[in-house]
Amino acid sequence: APLPVKRALLSVSDKTGLLELARALVAQGAEILSTGGSAKALKNAGLPVTEVSEHTGFPEILDGRVKTLVPQIHGGILGRRDLPAHVEQMNAHGIAPIDLVAVNLYPFEATVASGAADDDCIENIDIGGPALIRAAAKNHNHVVVLTDPAQYAPVIEAMNSGGTTLETRRLLAGAAYARTASYDAAIANWFAQRRDDLLPDRFTLAGERHEILRYGENPHQKAAFYYNGSKRPGVATARQIQGKALSYNNLNDTDAAFEAVAEFSTPAVVVVKHANPCGVATASDFSSAWDQALRCDPVSAFGGIVALNGTLDEETAIKIASIFTEVIVAPDATHAAREILARKKNLRLLLTGALPDPGEAGVIVRSVAGGFLAQTRDNGRITEDDLRVATQRAPTSEEMQELIFAFRVAKHVKSNAIVYAKNHATVGIGAGQMSRVDSARIAVSKSLEAAKLLGQNEPLTKGSVVASDAFFPFADGLETIVAAGATAVIQPGGSIRDKEVIAAADAAGIAMVFTGMRHFRH
Ligand code: 5GP
Repeated sequence: APLPVKRALLSVSDKTGLLELARALVAQGAEILSTGGSAKALKNAGLPVTEVSEHTGFPEILDGRVKTLVPQIHGGILGRRDLPAHVEQMNAHGIAPIDLVAVNLYPFEATVASGAADDDCIENIDIGGPALIRAAAKNHNHVVVLTDPAQYAPVIEAMNSGGTTLETRRLLAGAAYARTASYDAAIANWFAQRRDDLLPDRFTLAGERHEILRYGENPHQKAAFYYNGSKRPGVATARQIQGKALSYNNLNDTDAAFEAVAEFSTPAVVVVKHANPCGVATASDFSSAWDQALRCDPVSAFGGIVALNGTLDEETAIKIASIFTEVIVAPDATHAAREILARKKNLRLLLTGALPDPGEAGVIVRSVAGGFLAQTRDNGRITEDDLRVATQRAPTSEEMQELIFAFRVAKHVKSNAIVYAKNHATVGIGAGQMSRVDSARIAVSKSLEAAKLLGQNEPLTKGSVVASDAFFPFADGLETIVAAGATAVIQPGGSIRDKEVIAAADAAGIAMVFTGMRHFRH
């Protein structure tokens, strides 16, 4: 049977919607109990309210650390109305039943996000609130629990038509435990972060649903996007200026593109398809970086995701908009660039305000049957000092800069990754193959196609340098690279056949450096 409310406890940090809820309760004859700040807000609005301290005969103490943690309150919430023994005990101790509890918690997450001092964060760990919520949710057979102002309106409507149903109360109870779980997860994560303990004994993923997506990777899969409170500039915190809603694949690809472009400090453009870059370039300006990135694989760039590491300008916007593009993501865009893009209704423009720090520590997670894998982000970034020359010939200083560029790109290409680069632009990318030599060959054949589109017969790989995300297990990959006309190679080294690989490089007169760092990406 629908449940009418005779007594309600309102104790909310976020006072949104509080007065409307209280008015609806008063209108149906309910008594309202409330804690200090909430009671004050209600009194100011002229609503009848009994302070919890008045109701229990016990004052709020310890700066509000103990307000509602008393048997009169928790007994009133937890007592089973269908058990005569419970009813008897409640009567014997003068405990009045409470039928509705509306609580939202001290803003712990927001306090942490604001960069507040430790003491302030700790004071914002709510103790009584979660206890009230968990008690009310446990006794949802008899009690309504509200943990979010967005829940008030439908419950007010239900109360106006006789009371809430058990089904509604069960839904609210589930939402209540989800809220206290994510609240405690945020607290646990905060403690772990302060200890630099990125992979603690118990790992809790916490997030608020940001958006329900149309579908997942495929139309028969359901999907949603969760925000975990991170301040890292990127897909979750970006502002969408225009265009259709982003799909699951769009979000995944946009993330890959933006993380990749953030590796570079001069104007850079990354074009991504299916989570792999199909063109990356840095130049003195975005317009030429775009031209060069597009040249690498214009066929694949169709329907791609484009990321820039600076403010999108008008000239570049015109060029990008001239081919079919799904998403553009950048820290910012000029007014003129926005006007150009506004004519392409479907094209999504995401502005992040800033670039993420590629060196930042963090954890990434992937699910497997029966659990999930967590690892620290690949924030490794080799510099010239980390490199060891393995061949007779050392790279020239131009080759060296080119090699570092190519290796930075390779980090963002799915393994096995082979990246050919020239003039700080990729000219052939082999991604996601099961053998390294296949990736080396595919990159060359794609480069030949790209050359043909430019009216050239030689692959663009002639005179390029090459990055490999992991060592060459055999000399064949290197021989492919030599045949494609590359002059220098960067790779982690460390194969038992390094000697053969070095010999092949020396025989061809090319320079090779070892990074000592691998960038697998699966
Ligand atoms: P008010 O603004 O009404 O004074 O306080 C409302 C807040 O107090 C709510 O966020 C609620 O979760 C919290 N709260 C209620 N009872 C207790 C308690 O006994 N201890 C603590 N620490 N917080 C409480």
